[in-house]
Amino acid sequence: SPASTVVMSGSNRRGDPPTKPGQCAGQSSPDIPTLLGTEDGAALPAETPIRDAVCRRSGKRGKCMCGVFGYVGQSIDDTILTALKTLEYRGYDSWGLALSTPDDLLVHKDVGRINGRVRSYPSSTQGIGHTRWATHGGVEPANSHPHLDCFRRIAVVHNGIIENHVELRAQLLARGHRLQSETDSDVVAHLVEEELASGSDLPDAVATVFSILEGYNAVVVMDRLEQRFAAAKRVSPLVLGR
Ligand code: GLU
Repeated sequence: SPASTVVMSGSNRRGDPPTKPGQCAGQSSPDIPTLLGTEDGAALPAETPIRDAVCRRSGKRGKCMCGVFGYVGQSIDDTILTALKTLEYRGYDSWGLALSTPDDLLVHKDVGRINGRVRSYPSSTQGIGHTRWATHGGVEPANSHPHLDCFRRIAVVHNGIIENHVELRAQLLARGHRLQSETDSDVVAHLVEEELASGSDLPDAVATVFSILEGYNAVVVMDRLEQRFAAAKRVSPLVLGR
C-alpha cells in the first residue's frame, strides 16, 4: 500500500525544554484546554491567561500554541479534520485546511471551533491543516492558515512568531507578490515560491527560507505539484510519522 507521511506539531505536553524563571511563567501549571472563539456564532468564555498572549507577542513561548498537521498517502476523507480535533486541547481561535486536488488547492478556513458539523471535501491524497492561536492579524478567515503562494501551488501552516516578518513582507511586496493576510506567516509561502522559481527543490527551498526567519517557529510546507511536504522547526515541537 502507498506509504503515508504525517507531520504534526502542537503536542508540547512533554519533552519541552525547561522554561527559565520569568519566561512565560505558567508553563509548569497543568495543561488546561483553552478554547477561545465562537461556536455557531456564540462567544465562548476565554480561559486563556492574558499574560500568555503577551508572552507570545514578545516572541517567547506561551503555554498555548496552535496545532499543525499534514498528511500524504491514501485517500483523505476526514483525516485532516479528525487530526485537528486531536490538537484542539492546545487552544485555538480559528482553523483551516488545504487539500491538493488535480488542478488546484481546495482551501477551507474559518474562525471559532471546528465542532462536529459534517463537511464534505473532494477526495485527495495530500492535505495540511492548522489550528491557529492568533498573534499577528485579527481572528478572521483570511488570517487563518494555510497561506498560499501567488500560484496556489504552495500551502503553508506555521506555528510561532516570525520576528522579522515586517521587513520580509516589505521586500516581497516590492518584488510584486500579493500577500493576502495580516499575519506574519504568509511570507513563508511567497519566499518558498521564489526559491522554487530559482530552481531549488522543495527541501532546499524550505531550508533556505527557514534560515532567514527569526524567532521560534515550526512550518510545514505542502507542494501541490510534487505532492510533497517539507517541514522545519526551531524550538517549536514537530513530530514526523510514517
Ligand atoms: N503567528 C502566526 C499567526 O498569527 C501563527 C500563530 C500560531 O502559532 O497559531 O497566524
